[in-house]
Order: sequence, then structure tokens, then C-alpha cells
Amino acid sequence: MNRRQWLLGTASAGLLAPRASSREPARLEARLVRLRLRHTWTTTMSSSDFRDTVHTAYTRDGITGRGEGAPIPRYRETPEGAKRAVEAMAPQITAGNPFEFDKLLRTTFATIEDNYAARAAVDIALMDWVGQKLGVPLYTYFGLDPADAPLTSFSIGIDKPEVIRQKVREAAPYPILKVKVGLDVDEATIRAVRSVTDKPIRVDANEGWKDRDTAARKIEWLIGQGVEFVEQPMPAAQIEDVRWLRERFAIPIIADEAVLHPGDIPRLAEAYDGVNIKLDKAGGILEAWRMIQIAKALGMKTMLGCMISSSVSVTAAAHLSPLVDYADLDGNLLIANDPYRGVQVKEGKLVLPDAPGLGLTPA
Ligand code: MG
Repeated sequence: MNRRQWLLGTASAGLLAPRASSREPARLEARLVRLRLRHTWTTTMSSSDFRDTVHTAYTRDGITGRGEGAPIPRYRETPEGAKRAVEAMAPQITAGNPFEFDKLLRTTFATIEDNYAARAAVDIALMDWVGQKLGVPLYTYFGLDPADAPLTSFSIGIDKPEVIRQKVREAAPYPILKVKVGLDVDEATIRAVRSVTDKPIRVDANEGWKDRDTAARKIEWLIGQGVEFVEQPMPAAQIEDVRWLRERFAIPIIADEAVLHPGDIPRLAEAYDGVNIKLDKAGGILEAWRMIQIAKALGMKTMLGCMISSSVSVTAAAHLSPLVDYADLDGNLLIANDPYRGVQVKEGKLVLPDAPGLGLTPA
């Protein structure tokens, strides 16, 4: 066998690094999708009946990878701004080699400021494409066992007690609830939940308790109500106050608004027991994977969360979920017009699709 025959043989056996063919120019398209909520969604930050997310499609070699990012108003992101940022990145992304995704995404993201929802939408589409092209589900690409995917909680927004009771009844198939608190109606909210169910609940105050004494009083009461952990009890900047709370209570305290990027995690390790990582905050699957690894290395609990979004973004996060302790991946369950079908929830457990890439199908 001469060198040429040997190379041809190894290439056909798939032993050489995969290549994208360049016969047809690649395309990266962005559009806004309005997701209608099943219930008006209220937290300490906002109240709304719909959310607009940016959806992306990266097409090359006859394969389309899909991505999505939910712009977060707290970080001054807007749907239109996210779409513009994707369009600004498109020339560089489509000109690059998708199998050099780490370099391609790093160099492209270095050309834009912030815009983490847009980054997530581009990263997810590219990774979906890579998985499809290689013929493996993303969890396999990351070396994970889908059987390790955790239970997901189901979120209950702030509302009148009679509406909360109704939502809790509708959430009967989900074994864990995550209840939004952080306002002066907290006790009424939890009492309404507890009048219907005794299943485990987690609470998310979304920075709502502004001073440490209020937070301590609320947490003490919540521990008596069988709460499993407390997410972002106080404003993100008040790390010292959260450290003070942690010294007083054994219940885990999880950071959400306080953690955006890998570099945030080490200084949070002294005040928080864990971090809630979201693809929309991190800027995609790869950065979320790095954050999970950093948090684990620091001995912290890890959680994957999501914004209100379709099955594209939620499924992308779900592919990393075998890595984490807690999942709150229910954004797609809260909307009435999901354009895709991906991760499913069976008796609360995340069931990952086994088709290549994200494994999405049209709804
Ligand atoms: Mg949260």
C-alpha cells in the first residue's frame, strides 16, 4: 500500500479529522420568535405574557444546526439587539471551519461586546451542526451518560394564591417545584403551594430580599416549610451579606444573578454553596461546560437553569445536564407555541433525544 492508498483508506474509515466541504457557501440566519406564555409570568423583575428569543440556523453541507438565545433585560439585552449581534457575527462564522469551533467562536466573540444571548444562539447552532455532521448526540460528544440526567424542577411564578394553587395542581407530574419569592407576599405564596402539595420545593428570590435581617427571617421560615435550597436571596452585589447568611443556615444558597461568567465563580465560592448556570448568561454550551467544571473543581453544587425559551435552548442545556446536581430546565414547558420538540420530561426526569446534535424535530 502506498501513502496515497493508505490516506484514502483512513479517510474513508473516518480516521482523519472531519472536514466541512466548501462546495456551497455556509449560511447563518437569525430571526425573532415570539413565545406565548401559558400563564402571565411574574418574578421580582418583570411580568409578561410573551417573550421574544433570537433563533439561529447555521447551514452547511446540507445540514442545518439550530440555536436560540433569550435576551436578558437585567443585562440590558433586547431581542433586536441580539438579532443584530448575530448578523454582525455571521460573516466571520460562515467563513470559518466549523470543526475549529472553539477557535472560531472565541475569535468571533472577541469582536463583539457582551451580547451573551446572541453568543449562545450562535454557539448552540454550531454545536448542533457539529453533532449532526459527526452523527452523535451532543451528550455523547461531551462524554456523558444520558441516564445521569437529573430531575428537573417546574417553576411557579408569583401570583394570587388561587392562581398559584391552580398552577401547582397543573404541575402534578413534576416531583420538584421551584417557587418564585422575593416580594412581601412570600408567606402567602408558600402557604398556597403547601395547601396543595407536600412535594419538595426550591425557592428563588431573584435578589428580592434587600437586607440581611429580612433575608434571615425569610430563610428561617422557609426551612420550616421543607424548602430544599434558596436561590439568589439578595442582590448580586451583596456577597458579604450572603456569606453572613451562609454562616447561619445549613440550607444551600445558590447564586444565579451573581454568576455570569467563569471568572465570577471563584470569588462566589466563599458565599454561595452552588451556582445556577444558564446558556443565555454564559454565551453558549462551551462556556457553560467550562463554568460547570470550574464550580465542581471548587467543590460547589452545580445547577443548569434556563430562561423562558423554546426546546432549542432548553435541549442544548439538557445535553450537559448529566454533569450537574440540579436542573431547572422547564422554560419550554411554560410556553404554548414551542416550534420544536427535543428534551422530554418523564416523571420529572429529563429524557435526552438520542438523534445526532441536539436531536430536535419540528413540533
Ligand atoms: Mg434564578
